[in-house]
Amino acid sequence: MAQYTPMIQQYLAIKRDYPDTFLFFRLGDFYELFFEDAVVASRELEITLTGRDGGAEERIPMCGVPHHSADAYIAELLKKGYKVAVCEQVEDPKEAKGVVRREVTRVITPGTMMEGKWLSDKENNYMVALAQSEGKVGIAACDMSTGEMYTTSVWAKGEAALDEAMQYRPKEMVFCGLSTSLKNDLPNTYIEKDQLDPFAVDRQYGEQAKQLDQAMRTAVNALLHYIGTTQKRSLSHMRLLKRYDTRQFLQMDGFSRRNLELTETIRDKTKKGSLLWLLDRTETAMGGRMLRRWIERPLLNQTELEERLNAVEHIKSDMILRADLRAALDRVYDLERLAGRIAYGNANARDLVQLRLSLEAVPKLRRLLIDTEAPVLVQIAEEMDECTDIVSFLSSALVDDPPISVREGGIIRPGYDEYLDKLHTASREGKNWIAQLEQAEREATGIRSLKVGFNKVFGYYIEVSRANQANVPAGRYERKQTLANAERFITPELKEKEALILEAEEKMIELEYQLFVAVRSEVAQHIPRLQGLAERIAAIDVLQSFATVSDERGFVRPQIVNSGECVIREGRHPVVEAVLEREKYVANDVEMNQSDRQILLITGPNMAGKSTYMRQIALITVMAQIGCFVPAKEARLSLVDQIFTRIGAADDLAGGHSTFMVEMLETKHALQKATAQSLILLDEIGRGTSTYDGMALAQAVIEYIREQIGAKTLFSTHYHELTSLEETLPGVVNVHARCEERDGKLLFLHKIEPGRADKSYGIHVAELAEMPRKVIERARQILAGLEAGAAPSQDVQMTLEALWSAPVAAGREETHQSMQPEEIALITELRELDLNQTTPMEAMLKIFEWKQRLKR
Ligand code: ADP
Ligand code: MG
Repeated sequence: MAQYTPMIQQYLAIKRDYPDTFLFFRLGDFYELFFEDAVVASRELEITLTGRDGGAEERIPMCGVPHHSADAYIAELLKKGYKVAVCEQVEDPKEAKGVVRREVTRVITPGTMMEGKWLSDKENNYMVALAQSEGKVGIAACDMSTGEMYTTSVWAKGEAALDEAMQYRPKEMVFCGLSTSLKNDLPNTYIEKDQLDPFAVDRQYGEQAKQLDQAMRTAVNALLHYIGTTQKRSLSHMRLLKRYDTRQFLQMDGFSRRNLELTETIRDKTKKGSLLWLLDRTETAMGGRMLRRWIERPLLNQTELEERLNAVEHIKSDMILRADLRAALDRVYDLERLAGRIAYGNANARDLVQLRLSLEAVPKLRRLLIDTEAPVLVQIAEEMDECTDIVSFLSSALVDDPPISVREGGIIRPGYDEYLDKLHTASREGKNWIAQLEQAEREATGIRSLKVGFNKVFGYYIEVSRANQANVPAGRYERKQTLANAERFITPELKEKEALILEAEEKMIELEYQLFVAVRSEVAQHIPRLQGLAERIAAIDVLQSFATVSDERGFVRPQIVNSGECVIREGRHPVVEAVLEREKYVANDVEMNQSDRQILLITGPNMAGKSTYMRQIALITVMAQIGCFVPAKEARLSLVDQIFTRIGAADDLAGGHSTFMVEMLETKHALQKATAQSLILLDEIGRGTSTYDGMALAQAVIEYIREQIGAKTLFSTHYHELTSLEETLPGVVNVHARCEERDGKLLFLHKIEPGRADKSYGIHVAELAEMPRKVIERARQILAGLEAGAAPSQDVQMTLEALWSAPVAAGREETHQSMQPEEIALITELRELDLNQTTPMEAMLKIFEWKQRLKR
């Protein structure tokens, strides 16, 4: 290291403390990156990689970005999951002896982003910590930009805890004291338990910390520790700690959530096409984020649910109210993130004006709600703090349209500060005097073209053209600058006024900044009030969003019952219905209960609408349990504690894992966790293995659910054999997706009807596709054998030649004249009989048995 220049040595010393970040090293007007950082960053950011002599023989790889556009580059790196440490010059280079002192002033990580431009409005930016303590795993999730902190703990092994953590869609993970490492694609940080300050949580949250168990405390402490070491700033906006129990909510594992496309689609992982997308008619960013949280955590508490439904019903029934609410909400900015920035100390004057404008919209919003006289809405309104004191404080302190920069002045409203006003007056008077000077001097000198002007280098001056030089009062005017055809002068009086103006302005700017900071700190004292208000506004926004969508899409209020029933008349899949353009969605009924209609076995050909039907029932359940109306004519639903969806594996092998193994693992989890109050969707389970295997497993799973769990279950299958379970297993009911042949085409009616499907659809479709006639004939024949219980290959060798050389049969009857299934079975047995292993007696007995069977 000795051979490096002192600056590079300084760089390396700082970098050592931040090994897993890109170190943005301030050098004049640039942030420079060196060594490996430079190589990777130049590739990720598509900027030119250069080199720099650092004292060593080889040039040091280097790349850099201008400091004023650094944010965009930092954002790009964060988006890719990297961390950035910003290292600033912390002393004036002019005063530095040797290398300028530099320090890392903040570390920006994907989970700790605060700036609006790096975040998406309608999505929280969570960072999650998992910590193991006393046999439990504590989970803490925090959004730095809004100041929210949630925590829970589970008696579970790592994987289940990770599943809970992933519900937050975190940008970053922190692990503490976990024995196993949990695989995920996010930036991970490991913290040892003994690095933590065990009382950090008490200092941050006071009384609220008392309700936490040890696992939660450790998780919250781990997050606080991590935030503390990266942010190096106030965490005063993080005052809200919410502890919850995962059993308070309808639970779905990650797989089920993805499969139901609650917040993003399976195919391209976008919001568009998800339930969230369909339901999002929120007007505010806070509402958008709350809607997402509600969808991720449907309720189990009927009272709470009915309150939401009452509110939605009320807003839905009154179109004018809805329009007024939407208009009022539209005037509200992102209070939560404004509050976050105010507390954090990076809000500018415009942010504070946006805060005031938002607060000014509240009285109207409250009035609207109170006037409804609907108890839920009135209650929310009454909990809204109008913050009138903050509004009047802000409007007295700040002008309406301040500049973005808080260092330019022009922020504080006249009348707010006496001294500032005096400075303003002094500056204004000086300027007025100068404004009059031109006229006065023209009169005094008789030079009509005399001008008074200002430039940055020389300040104020009096300009006289060359032609008029003779009339310049030599004693009073002092020459300042000579131009091609004019001379510029100053007078002692002008100089004096100029000094006054400049001094006043300099003081004003400094004073305005100080006043602004004080205003911001004053408002920061009220953060919890603002956060409480924000939460209520967000809730109203979500409720009006539900009402708006429900009205536009003809959703109805679900009736919540305790009977264990799930009865839906003319239900629809809300998203499929919305994206089907010309074609109309076919509504379907469902009727299930915990006794004689517990398991619906759904058959029907591919593309008939089985999967859509199953998901539609799950989505209606979720919608009802978040308090939204549902796409149906009528719905009578019992609350569901968990939803499981499982999809049979396709034949392909993904990523080297046996998809069948995955299918079985996931089914196992469902069977382990489901209760009689759960809803299980099994979509072609058993598909990933051979027919008999798959069928046997499918049947065993159904029997297990019936006998051991009692959960309402939808089971789609292409194993028609399973439909006979209806006769033997109580509670199992067959339904099928109806299809019809029209004009030589198989028409999918998407209608779910009682009974089992016609099983010859596969061959039928092949026929419609004009497969060779002989293939169709042969397929029918094999099918007949299979249905009679023969193994697929049993009849083949004896008859192959005869079969394929025979003329095409005219009709079905003819093909049926071939061998009976029993005959096929006999021939197979004969072929397989090993005479070397058979005694004459055994052979006799075998022939006797065959003759008996043939007689039957
Ligand atoms: P399956 O699971 O039986 O193979 P899907 O449920 O995947 O069939 O449905 C296939 C397609 O049919 C869907 O993509 C959808 O566009 C359409 N579809 C399904 N159900 C309906 C319905 N009730 N009304 C209209 N179109 C439907
Ligand atoms: Mg399907």
